[in-house]
Amino acid sequence: MERPQRPPLVTSRTALLAVIGDPIEHSMSPIMHNAAIAALGLDYLYVAFQVRRDALRAACEGMRALGVRGFNVTIPHKVSIMAHLDEVVPLARRVGAVNTVALRDGRLVGRNTDGEGALRAFRDHGVPPAGKRFAVLGAGGAARAITAALSETAEHVTVLNRTRARGQALVDHLAEAARDLPSPATLECAELKRETLARVLPTVDVVVNCTPVGMFPHEGVSVLPADLLSAAPVVFDTVYNPLETQLLRDAAAAGCTTIGGLDMLVNQGAIAFEWWTGSAPDRALMKDRALAVLRQRRQGHESHQHGEAEPR
Ligand code: NAP
Repeated sequence: MERPQRPPLVTSRTALLAVIGDPIEHSMSPIMHNAAIAALGLDYLYVAFQVRRDALRAACEGMRALGVRGFNVTIPHKVSIMAHLDEVVPLARRVGAVNTVALRDGRLVGRNTDGEGALRAFRDHGVPPAGKRFAVLGAGGAARAITAALSETAEHVTVLNRTRARGQALVDHLAEAARDLPSPATLECAELKRETLARVLPTVDVVVNCTPVGMFPHEGVSVLPADLLSAAPVVFDTVYNPLETQLLRDAAAAGCTTIGGLDMLVNQGAIAFEWWTGSAPDRALMKDRALAVLRQRRQGHESHQHGEAEPR
């Protein structure tokens, strides 16, 4: 009996998408993007490449030479990639980092969808950021991307960081970079400590945790004292492993609206996908696949801790 023919997964017309970083094996982007590609029946394939720091220029030239449609960029290349691109869009220039590149007419164009992804997560949860006041905890890469995106639409952002000088540097940089925006948010900086939190939280609509506090495997701790949480109506944690951090648990118990970091991860990927392919991906499917991977990794870690053999 003749077996039914399945359409080939990859042909000579298949367009390539990728993610580059080092290390790269933990990236969830190939799983999320390939699920979205398959659901739409698009002729694309998304792969992961480990690219060492000293090979970044060659990798960019390779992407251009091979006509790759686009690629994501992760640690440690988000800042250094900018020197190898033909164009960087204004928001990514303000952030000073690129996480998504598209090949347009032979030119490598860089964009940063991390902050945009966070803003879309706010909107999805009925919290449009326009005109709102935010407290951003942390001053690293995630805080920079989110604060830069918020500068375009929010009313005010207070950046609270453990190392005040780093928070001040972020605020000074973004205030200067946002000078040409029509009505940029006002920005201020404070040290991340109980007294400043007690002063700032009653004045904001949304708190955004951009520190890794509470992240696997150091769960059960929160960057915010639980008794201060009722002062903030909405709490967003960029940490997505675990899905429900101690901060989000405390916030829910205090009656706040809570938003988890997985929504930002899915949305930054969805915005890149739309930019490359012109099609809107199934974000619920992308989230489902990401969730499945996170659960699998967790089970793997727990079995490892209990001395069971790792599944091959
Ligand atoms: P980063 O550049 O290393 O910055 C970390 C920030 O957290 C710094 O401001 C640091 O303060 C602060 N911090 C670290 N440990 C702290 C502690 N124990 N108490 C108080 N503050 C502390 O990191 P990043 O790239 O911004 O990433 C931060 C978090 O964002 C990670 O947990 C990551 O999972 C999450 N993230 C999520 C997404 C997403 O799509 N959901 C995307 C990117 C990042 P100092 O300046 O004082 O050192």
